[in-house]
Amino acid sequence: MTGLILRIAIPSPLYKTFDYLPPPGCDPATLRPGVRVRVPFGRQRVVGFLLELADHTALDPALLRPAEAVLDLEPALPADALALLNWAQRYYHHPPGEVFATALPVLLRQGEPAAPPRISPLWRITSAGHTALAEVATLRRAPVQRLLLEHLAQCPDGAEAEALRPVVHASTATLRVLREKGWVELTAPPLPSEPAAVAAAPVQPLTLNAAQAVAIATVAAELDRFGVFLLEGITGSGKTEVYLRLIETVLTQGRQALVLTPEIGLTPQLLARFRERLPGPLAVLHSGLSDRERLNAWLLARTGAARVIVGTRSAIFAPLQAPGLLIIDEEHDASFKQQDGFRYHARDLAVVRARQLGIPVVLGSATPALESINNAQSGRYRLLPLPERVGGGSPPPIEILDVRRQPLTEGLSPSLLARIRVHLARNEQVLLFLNRRGFAPVLFCHECGWLSQCRHCDARMTLHLRRQRLICHHCGDDRAIDPACPVCGSVDLRPVGQGTERLETALRREFPTIGIARMDRDSTRRRGSLETLLTDIQSGDSRLLIGTQMLAKGHHFPDVTLVGIIDADQGLYGVDFRSSERMAQLILQVAGRAGRADKPGTVIIQTHHPDHPLLRTLASQGYPAFAEAALAERREALLPPFAHQALLRAEAVEAERATAFLKAARMLAEPIADGLELLGPAPAPMERRAGRYRAHLLLQAARRQDLHRFLDRWIIELWAQRPDRQVRWALDVDPTELY
Ligand code: ADP
Ligand code: ZN
Ligand code: ZN
Repeated sequence: MTGLILRIAIPSPLYKTFDYLPPPGCDPATLRPGVRVRVPFGRQRVVGFLLELADHTALDPALLRPAEAVLDLEPALPADALALLNWAQRYYHHPPGEVFATALPVLLRQGEPAAPPRISPLWRITSAGHTALAEVATLRRAPVQRLLLEHLAQCPDGAEAEALRPVVHASTATLRVLREKGWVELTAPPLPSEPAAVAAAPVQPLTLNAAQAVAIATVAAELDRFGVFLLEGITGSGKTEVYLRLIETVLTQGRQALVLTPEIGLTPQLLARFRERLPGPLAVLHSGLSDRERLNAWLLARTGAARVIVGTRSAIFAPLQAPGLLIIDEEHDASFKQQDGFRYHARDLAVVRARQLGIPVVLGSATPALESINNAQSGRYRLLPLPERVGGGSPPPIEILDVRRQPLTEGLSPSLLARIRVHLARNEQVLLFLNRRGFAPVLFCHECGWLSQCRHCDARMTLHLRRQRLICHHCGDDRAIDPACPVCGSVDLRPVGQGTERLETALRREFPTIGIARMDRDSTRRRGSLETLLTDIQSGDSRLLIGTQMLAKGHHFPDVTLVGIIDADQGLYGVDFRSSERMAQLILQVAGRAGRADKPGTVIIQTHHPDHPLLRTLASQGYPAFAEAALAERREALLPPFAHQALLRAEAVEAERATAFLKAARMLAEPIADGLELLGPAPAPMERRAGRYRAHLLLQAARRQDLHRFLDRWIIELWAQRPDRQVRWALDVDPTELY
């Protein structure tokens, strides 16, 4: 009678698994954990996920219902992905059903067969297409077509339509146009994958510099065991080249490589570089895919048809057929942490997955997270520094520009304007960074002081002049711009503060003859608009570049010789203890977009706090010294990474309910909180958001084991409480922000 009970994760917010009997006529001996099972659940039928075959159940076996059908012959997830999810479920204390749902493509969650991916025909450039590319004039007015043709010109074997989607958004329409012109053609599909086809065609073999060679040799010598390598190198120091070489090595062993990048870093340039260098289909997993595309890419990874898998956060759960190496690019990036639902951290899980698999993981960054630097210093991670830019040249010097008492024109100081003028006169490009989209962050009544407050949040509505709306960036609510003050009726309403739209307007006035490219979520909403912007920048048609953090990652603008950070002050005294770390990372990331060896850039930071010690350290001594100083502050204050945190969040329409829940949670915690500090309940920094009041209880421990021993017990007691259904609550383990 062993193993007769199916223990199943069901997509529900409950903190438990569910027991079923095998479907009638099914031999349980054929079942393996990881297969999907259709089961009755309440009055519904749902797709669950078999976690284990158990001998007994806590329920009365006579009351167990049989499952209806087993949907897979082979487990949908291989054993190692299953092991990772089990680990993550226990570590983050999240309801199992939601954890497993995160790992599966939507179509599999809905019960679609996990059939092998369709093999699609390939698009190829024709000789007429090559001719068109060569004639500069032909494609002048069609940057998107040119981009696609240029990409296809680099794919001698042709490319699948799906692979072209990340290159240009409107690829289907563009392909149709190109085909009508006879510049591209559709060719027969290739034979089903030959996994051994590894003969990569290295473009021009580069001579590695010494630091690259050491980094590659160090990891390559350890491919058969677990190890975490922190590849710390400024932008342009050749990190991507190190990744590519290591991936090539892993491929020759017949194994796969999984590369995670921040959402925003998954640019066409990066993918094009991977496709150019690495053989075989690339599986790309990110949130912009359709459900079908996602399933296909996922299956390519699982069957091993794709040897290289590139994706954003959730790709950490991708099934691999023969995993050999994990790479996390821009490992410090905040987007690796999921901020709702199952709040996992993909970088941390990559380390866990590598350990479970006994393979190396490479964490790369110009500005590693303080956690990672601390791990390298304590010897848990191996540091692989790439201290120099490839081809020489030093990183751009950083100047702090004191704007106190300076007359600002829409946020621009006279000194910065003068410097911009000098660089533009030399025919160079200038990049201005402002991490706030819209025209102005608030509309203000000069008569009575009214502010454009969001009705649902403790936040102001941002003025978007181009769209003629006030928009809340926190809940998305929007409304028409008030023609007059709703309180006193005055028409003297003024926009206060700077947004990218306003900066653009001001710069058009100052530099009427210069092409300006603004890159933010608003200006790139339309498909193809990002590509057009990038083409204009590359061609030099745009020489003033304005942008939010969208501009800060992935792209390289070699003709930019001046980078201006319009406002560093937000980051210096933010509510979150990580604000200064984030600001430093962002400044260097933006700085890294600029210049090349023969045209080094300069970075100018406008601030009202020119004496801020961390900012000074960053400007005069660079990131490693900054990190040292910031870590010393954290140690002093007993903050992460020198303490370990969990945050119990609660929200409700009525503030008292959220607080009452947290108070009760604290009462439950107190008797078992050995080695812990309990802070709160306290209101969240943004107390009201989307119409709900938010509060939290912060738990902190000097030793990680103490925290987790406590959480194991506490979470069960929390779930056993009689719940107030009006309260939404969630546990955030290792929170990265308090909002
Ligand atoms: P990072 O990822 O650190 O920003 P990349 O790997 O993208 O750096 O390298 C920057 C540029 O230098 C790329 O164009 C790359 O092709 C080139 N490059 C990298 N390594 C070398 C090398 N050893 N010799 C010559 N060029 C190199
Ligand atoms: Zn008023
Ligand atoms: Zn709002």
